[in-house]
Amino acid sequence: MIPLSDEPPIHAATSDGGASVALPASPAGLAFFIDLDGTLIDIAPTPEGVFVPPGLPEQLAALGLATEGALAIVSGRAIVSLDRILGPSRLVKAGLHGGELRRSGQAMEAMTAPPALELLRPLLAALANRWPGTLLEDKGAAIAVHYRGNPAAEDDVLATVEAMLPLTEGTVAAQRGKMVIELKPASAGKGNVVRRLMAEPPFAGRLPVAMGDDVTDEAMFRVANEMGGLSIRVGDDGRPTDARLRLPDTTSLRAWVDALGRAGAALAAGAESAMVGTSTTASRPKGTP
Ligand SMILES: [Mg+2]
Repeated sequence: MIPLSDEPPIHAATSDGGASVALPASPAGLAFFIDLDGTLIDIAPTPEGVFVPPGLPEQLAALGLATEGALAIVSGRAIVSLDRILGPSRLVKAGLHGGELRRSGQAMEAMTAPPALELLRPLLAALANRWPGTLLEDKGAAIAVHYRGNPAAEDDVLATVEAMLPLTEGTVAAQRGKMVIELKPASAGKGNVVRRLMAEPPFAGRLPVAMGDDVTDEAMFRVANEMGGLSIRVGDDGRPTDARLRLPDTTSLRAWVDALGRAGAALAAGAESAMVGTSTTASRPKGTP
C-alpha cells in the first residue's frame, strides 16, 4: 500500500452521540461540496469583513487538483464575492445558494430574479431603514436582510419578511441563516447544487462529502446522505442537524482539507513513480481497495 502520510487521522464526532470516527485520509473517490462562511472561515460582523487564513486558497486548489476538479464551493454569497475572498480560481463555485453556478473555466450560469423579487426590493429597502443596525444585501437574484447588528429586531424582521412571501405566489422562498433571512428564487437551494453536479463529470461516480455550518446547508447534508456520502456540520450551536458528523470549528475543517490535498498530491506522486518503476505490482496486497 502507498503510505499516505504518517500524520494521525482527523476525527469527527458523530451527531447521534456515538464514538468519534476517523475521517478519510485520502480524497480518492470523493467529491467535495463546501460552504464558505462559518465552515472554511469564521463568520465576521459584516460579509466583507471576513478574515481569510493564509494558504486557504492554495489548500483548496490542491484538494481540487487531487479530485480532478470534483470540489465545489457552495455559498449564499454571490460568486463575485467568493472570487474576492478566495481569488478567481478554477474551483467550481455555486453562489446565492445555487442561484449562480460556475463550472471550472466556464462562464457563470445565473438564475434570474423572479419578477416578484423585483417588487419586494424597494419594500425591503424601506423596511431595513426602519430597523437600525440591519443591513440589506442585494445580491441580484437574491436579497438578504442581516440583523446581526440589531438582534432585538429578529422577530420583527422575520415576521415582516414572512408576510411578504404570499405576494410572490410561490416563486420566492425565504431561507433563514445565522442572523440573516434571505429571499431567493424558489428553485435555488444548495441540495439542488449537489444533485446537479453529481450527475456530471468530474463529480459523477464519486461519493459526495457535504460540509456546512448553517440551516442552508442541511439540504446538502440530506442529499449527501441519500447518495451514501458524508455530511459534516461545523460548530455546534445546539440546533438539530441532518449531518451525520460534526467538527468543532473552521480550524479543524481546514486541517482536514489541507491533509486531504497533501495526501492527494502524495498519491499522484506515488502513481507517477509507480508508472516509471517496473516492479510495483506486488506492493499492493490482494483485496486492498
Ligand atoms: Mg455558512
